[in-house]
Parts: sequence; C-alpha cells; structure tokens
Amino acid sequence: MKLAALGADLVDLLLPAGCIACRTWIPGGRRAPLVCGRCRSRLRTAPWPRCPRCHHPRASGRVESERCTECDTWPEALTAARHAVVLGDPSEDLVHALKYEGWPELADFMGRAMAAAVAAPFEGDIGWAASVVVPMPTTGERLRRRGYNQAELLARRVADLRGLPLIGALERHGSGRSQTGLSPSERVENVRGVFRPAPEAGAGVRCAHLMLVDDVLTTGATAAEAASVLARMGSASVRLVTYARALADAPEKAPSALH
Ligand SMILES: [Zn+2]
Ligand SMILES: [Zn+2]
Repeated sequence: MKLAALGADLVDLLLPAGCIACRTWIPGGRRAPLVCGRCRSRLRTAPWPRCPRCHHPRASGRVESERCTECDTWPEALTAARHAVVLGDPSEDLVHALKYEGWPELADFMGRAMAAAVAAPFEGDIGWAASVVVPMPTTGERLRRRGYNQAELLARRVADLRGLPLIGALERHGSGRSQTGLSPSERVENVRGVFRPAPEAGAGVRCAHLMLVDDVLTTGATAAEAASVLARMGSASVRLVTYARALADAPEKAPSALH
C-alpha cells in the first residue's frame, strides 16, 4: 500500500463516520453519505388529503371543512406553503444538525428534497419557475455564532437546482429569542416587527412572486410576519418552502380504526 493511501485510510478512521441522524456507521470514509439508507427511507411527506393552501393534512371524513385551522390566520400575502418532509424521527435530527451542530454540508441533501418538492407545477398559479428565492434571515448575533444561516444555505441550494434568482431581501433585528417552546400567540408576539427590508433588496422584490425558504414550518408565525413585510415592499405573492413541516396531530398518534 502506498503511503498516501495509508494516510487517507488513517484519516477515514479518525473521522466521525456515521449517519448524522442515527449515528450508525456508514462505510465509505470521506465519500460516505451523511445520512444512511435506513434513515432516508424513513423520511415522510404529509398524508393526503391536504389543505390546498398550506398542505397540512385534512381530516378525511365525508364532510369537508371550509377552513383550515392551520393557515386561516395567515396574512393574505402568504399564499401557500410547501414542505419536503414531515418533522419527526429522523428529519428532526437533520434539522438540528444543520442548525446547531455545525453540519452545513447537510444543506445539499435537504435542499435537494426541497427542490424536488417544488418541481411540480403549482396548481392554478404561475408555477414555481417564475419565483425569486428569498432566504429567511437570521440575526447578526446568531450568524456570528453559527458562521452561517441555515435557511440561506437551503435557499441557495434550491435556487441553484431550480435555476432561480436569489435575493437576500430581508434583515432580522430584535432579541432573536427562539420560537422554540413558545405558545402560538407568543410566537406571533415574539417575531412582531423583527424584519426589515435589506439594503440589497432593491427593486427585485417589487411585483415578484417570492419563494421564502426556511428550515422548518411550525405555526407559520415567522413566515406570516416576513410575508407581511415583503408585501409592503411590493411583492406580488409569497410562498413558503421549508424542509420540514411540524404537524398539529402526528398521524401515527391518531386513534386507529375501531375493531
Ligand atoms: Zn441513519
Ligand atoms: Zn391550510
């Protein structure tokens, strides 16, 4: 064995080679995928039928409810939401690893799934192809701490794969208190007034159909606030695309059929 090859093998041994979600060892050293096949196969999208606007699953009863309780408080400017996978095991681990554990490389894997989720023509609308991608901004303090904005990494990947322009149209100010652990009404309060037009927004946002990109959609409070600011900046519409979607009632927790 050549010395260089031996050295490379030693480096592979020292690297934390394992699936980011379940830590199972994956053969292949530096060329190994970040997520193992078993975890990939366990990633799920939301079950149908879904709300046409926000894609949250709806009850499959015969009586169709008029309104969707998940998106009926969203501003008119936020016209739709789409997701790649449901938040849970193992997508939650990927979201966490990208955001908090210093794995920006995951943005490629996650961004590909998001690009695929918006590949189909958008029903009864202009189609995603005419969109301008806007990343959900983070605070300057968080950016310094993490070294990157995970939403921007995802947005860049989606924009590249779909051949769309990207504009950092918004800035985020305020305390930057996380939405985690807050009630729905506290979430709305926590993000009120935190977004402002970025100097580089320019005229690119005016009359444009925007694709706002974030890692997770929970209640939509953050996206609603951002969409309202983008609407005031003159955008034609704002459609949210996230990697993961938290479901109000996880389907596996729903009562099973009566026997
Ligand atoms: Zn795994
Ligand atoms: Zn809805």
